[in-house]
Amino acid sequence: MQGLPTQGGGIGSHRAARKESAGRRSHVRACQGDRSPQGVLVMPFAAPHPCTHPGCSTLTEGRRCREHRREEWRQQARNRPNPAAAGYGHEWRKASRRFLRENPLCVLCLKAGKIRASEVTDHIIPHKGDMALFWDRTNWQALCWRCHSRKTAFNDGGPSQLS
Ligand SMILES: [Zn+2]
Ligand SMILES: [Zn+2]
Repeated sequence: MQGLPTQGGGIGSHRAARKESAGRRSHVRACQGDRSPQGVLVMPFAAPHPCTHPGCSTLTEGRRCREHRREEWRQQARNRPNPAAAGYGHEWRKASRRFLRENPLCVLCLKAGKIRASEVTDHIIPHKGDMALFWDRTNWQALCWRCHSRKTAFNDGGPSQLS
């Protein structure tokens, strides 16, 4: 009875170590199997089953048959943020913060004779994914939230008439 816990622990840790390397191996194998068009490297227990795409009964080792996997990839690529959305990343936030520091007042409020702090860097001409226009500082203006949301709402109905 006294030797059991030690022995059990010994086996357990040994097993854990083996499991780790086996896990890594099987992970690699699973990835290769997933990509292999012939499905040669598929693990034995991954029995072929129907593709999960609704209405498709093609047998596959993965989640989807080759055709629908490709379709899924294409769809994911389409859903990936476009360059314009990517532009609103870290670099943009940094540049925008700097711009607002240099232009601390909302330019539209200023035109109307009001003093209000700027909160948003707005693109005067909507860049619509045009990176040159996006990063062109001469196309930037500092706005407060109120003016920005008013302009955005306006832009939804057509080209900007502001500025
Ligand atoms: Zn399918
Ligand atoms: Zn304003």
